[in-house]
Amino acid sequence: MKVLRLRSSLKKLTQSLKKQNKSIGFVPTMGFLHAGHLSLVKKAVQKDDVVIASLFVNPLQFGPKEDFKKYPRDFNRDTRMFAKAGADYLFAPSAKEFYPTNFQTEVRVSGVSQGLCGVTRPHHFGGVATVVLKLLQLVQPDRLYLGQKDFQQIRVIEQMVSDLDVGVNIVRCPTLREPDGLAMSSRNVYLSAQERLEAPKLYQALQKTAQQIRGGERRPLVLQRGLIQGLRQAKYAKIDYAEIVDARELKPMVESKELPRKGELLIVAALFFSKARLIDNILVKG
Ligand code: AMP
Repeated sequence: MKVLRLRSSLKKLTQSLKKQNKSIGFVPTMGFLHAGHLSLVKKAVQKDDVVIASLFVNPLQFGPKEDFKKYPRDFNRDTRMFAKAGADYLFAPSAKEFYPTNFQTEVRVSGVSQGLCGVTRPHHFGGVATVVLKLLQLVQPDRLYLGQKDFQQIRVIEQMVSDLDVGVNIVRCPTLREPDGLAMSSRNVYLSAQERLEAPKLYQALQKTAQQIRGGERRPLVLQRGLIQGLRQAKYAKIDYAEIVDARELKPMVESKELPRKGELLIVAALFFSKARLIDNILVKG
């Protein structure tokens, strides 16, 4: 696997791959890899001729009081893991290289960015949309591989790609979990031993609500109350949000009398632990 540090080298590479008619699969990450990240790379290896991954802790998507400086990093380990999973190239620029001093643009996707994580992280999805659009310009991939754990992020990027006519196919990849159900995340290292024992309660609460829906409960308020009750079992955590939303616009269902029968629903929640904020979701049929 070849590591590229400069935007100019990446551009040259993608131009040459295009000339050779190779399909390009792209997996953007912030590093500190786990099996979830690697599952995206492996899927890209199956589908595309050439796989380009990126490793960039994007300062634009962190709020002033968030963990940008402390975000876990291990470049050497990540490089080995990307290579072993089959990535052909790794783009790992410095912040100065990626955002030169005079950088002034922000991409803002309104609707789907606003609820859920957008409430406590108002600048987050603008930062995500900006970095992803710039990466897509450089890589020009045929397919972009994204993890469903960050479902709102997927919707923001899908919306941006559709609104701005970016010619890329988005491949939604399933969430990889620890044996006890906790969604894999680079931020799980922030959990204390006690919190780590409680963290699977997030997924358990989501699962219980999914079962209720599948079992025929249609009242959003009843479902949301049950979800909150389930999340309260995690005594060391504080609930950020807990919602049942439509999986397209991400609008909460709680005001409706009944869940819609068409389309997909997302059961989604976020919990604050002392140093980590964990998110998770389950997609169910309406
Ligand atoms: P991150 O490095 O956290 O920005 O994540 C990079 C990509 O990996 C994003 O598309 C994430 O949604 C995806 N990802 C993160 N955690 C998981 C997981 N547990 N399973 C599958 N994909 C994941």
